[in-house]
Amino acid sequence: MTGSELRERFSASLMPNYGVPPIALTLGRGCEVYDADGRQYLDLIAGIAVSSLGHGHPALVKAVAHQAATIAHTSNLFINEREIELAERLVSLLGGDAKVYFSNSGTEANEAALKLVKRAAGPGRHYFVAAGKGFHGRTSGSLALTGKDSIREPFGPFGMDVRFVPHGDLDALREAVDTGCTAVFVEPTQGEAGVVPAPEGYLAGVREICDATGTAFVLDEIQSGIGRTGAWFAHQEAGVRPDVLTLAKGLGGGLPIGACVGFGRYADAFHKGDHGSTFGGNPIACAAALAVLDTIEKEGLLAHTAVMGDLLAEQLDAIDHPLLAGQRGSGLWRALTLTGPHAAHVQEQAAVRGFLVNAVAPDAIRLAPPLVITPEQIGVFIEALPTILDAAEAATKEKQS
Ligand SMILES: *Cc1c(COP(=O)(O)O)cnc(C)c1O
Repeated sequence: MTGSELRERFSASLMPNYGVPPIALTLGRGCEVYDADGRQYLDLIAGIAVSSLGHGHPALVKAVAHQAATIAHTSNLFINEREIELAERLVSLLGGDAKVYFSNSGTEANEAALKLVKRAAGPGRHYFVAAGKGFHGRTSGSLALTGKDSIREPFGPFGMDVRFVPHGDLDALREAVDTGCTAVFVEPTQGEAGVVPAPEGYLAGVREICDATGTAFVLDEIQSGIGRTGAWFAHQEAGVRPDVLTLAKGLGGGLPIGACVGFGRYADAFHKGDHGSTFGGNPIACAAALAVLDTIEKEGLLAHTAVMGDLLAEQLDAIDHPLLAGQRGSGLWRALTLTGPHAAHVQEQAAVRGFLVNAVAPDAIRLAPPLVITPEQIGVFIEALPTILDAAEAATKEKQS
């Protein structure tokens, strides 16, 4: 089946919410993927910061196959040991005094967090604060907290009082949060907004404001967590612990899983029957996540990610091109910022030359490669980048003329 045939069938049978993706992927090996027409690409986006071990990692394949052959599903009517192991593992990586709820996606992890903080809140707390341009997911509760107006507004109202403050602005946050606030939801670095870091000291400031008002601090590390920045979790680098932490994307290495972690009194805030999911804590997804955590540890991927991230940043900084404004981010989570709205052309021209990147904003290209990427693979991309930018510039001019 060719890519063009697959695109036609996609368009005829799948809802148009994603548009029709330009490339159909059929095989992945390490940091390389292949499309339906046999073309090879270096994968620099990893399914949106998900395939952290790359594709087909033997540890993940073995864990999933073994678990599928042992017991694939139990539901939450029964205990499965993988779920306990994974929760214990996460709690130990987070430094203890925490408990975990497992979901199947990021947005569900945030929905759990939303119910958890409502359960934990005293009387008189009736509104939420979140960051402008932030992203927390597409289901109604998470969407209500999502600061990207274009994706939220068509679907409201949500029956929630959510107040948005600019990302990284502690003065605005202090102004917005009083003892009527249930929770503050933020990302450490805004992923979907274009890998936009907060200023130094931001998380410590959020912690202080939440402590002063007794407000719950919910940190969405769905994109930043599990090694992406070169630490297990971005908040650990800041030396700040939230009350509630949400995870997903990189946790399952490609299998669908999310987690909502409650610290301190938030660990036990749910009452029996308060929340649930038929698939949550599914043994196969948990086995995959355990393989991801084991492999990150065994292969030293946190240190590797930090070193590769620095290398990538340094080599990007050395490129001088009229389309390239700069780069931002940390670890293997970067955005190339462009001097104009050229991202769609850059993404397209990168694909033509065998590189998968993501036009996350009109003027920003997101890079979130597998954490196992090598210096040689980074080098191949860096070498091709000026040509890609030239071609994008030519395509822009052609469109204008
Ligand atoms: C991707 C993402 C989500 C939503 O996760 P889904 O698995 O797509 O529901 C929420 N928050 C952040 C920060 C994300 O990057």
